[in-house]
Amino acid sequence: MLRIGVDLGGTNIAAGLVNDKNEIIKKTSVPTSDKSFEGVCRAIASLCESLSSGASVSEIGVGSPGIANASTGVVERWSNLNFVNAPLAERVSALCGLPVYIENDANAAALGEYVAGAGRGTEDFVLVTIGTGIGCGAVLGGKLYRGKNHSAFELGHTVIDLNGPVCTCGRRGCFETLASATALVRQAKEAAKACPESLLNQSEINGKTVFEALRLGDGAAKAVFDRYVKYLAAGVTDLINLLQPQVLCIGGGVSGAGEALLAPLRELVSREEYAKDCAVRTKIMPALLGNDAGIIGAAAIPLYL
Ligand SMILES: [Zn+2]
Repeated sequence: MLRIGVDLGGTNIAAGLVNDKNEIIKKTSVPTSDKSFEGVCRAIASLCESLSSGASVSEIGVGSPGIANASTGVVERWSNLNFVNAPLAERVSALCGLPVYIENDANAAALGEYVAGAGRGTEDFVLVTIGTGIGCGAVLGGKLYRGKNHSAFELGHTVIDLNGPVCTCGRRGCFETLASATALVRQAKEAAKACPESLLNQSEINGKTVFEALRLGDGAAKAVFDRYVKYLAAGVTDLINLLQPQVLCIGGGVSGAGEALLAPLRELVSREEYAKDCAVRTKIMPALLGNDAGIIGAAAIPLYL
């Protein structure tokens, strides 16, 4: 039997047909052009119809941003698209005629890496996604951890600097205001302005600009990166000290830098973590599935309710 996994985003909706080995057989996507609740449900239903034609599909799983209640199938809040108590599972199910399950998108991505990527074979696993913000999902004791109100593991909104920048959530110095891709780019832009001869001065400054300038030995880029990776290590070490997972994997745009990011991160964490003298320590790995994690994980939602 096949399942469909849907990765719902504010810009794009991606969906894939997934087999029982957690492999994507076929995938497709559309831009999220009609951002109304009904428009989103219809777009998801039409992707599912095109994927299921001629195939035997048992269930659909949807990874959604915001507070997605896996028990009720309701997206309680997704501020980007103004969803408030949106009955996503019920509406898509009515349109497709199949059972539909939902999950928070970061949880779905963590589930994807757990069943088919960096977390395979582990019992305690965490995915940290570094992009516009910082996402996080955790499988503990073989179960997806959601918290009673389906809002657990908002790692991006844990404070690492009381005097840091104000966050969208209202607190100051949240992890994501200092260690997301957005934060890295902001820090690089400030450094570029202060240091006109730096290679950071490009027409468009993004995460890659920093790693390229770093590779070429640029001093300002090195200063930006050294500070950034300290912030990242602070949050990652906190998480490891709390959970001691077997594997903590890093995904999202910034993880594209590979070992240029992971090697210094591992070094800082291994110096700072509480369990530094333990025989068994958390392995920090790159995410393996890229954007497919969201689809594969969404398809696995019905198995991890
Ligand atoms: Zn915050």
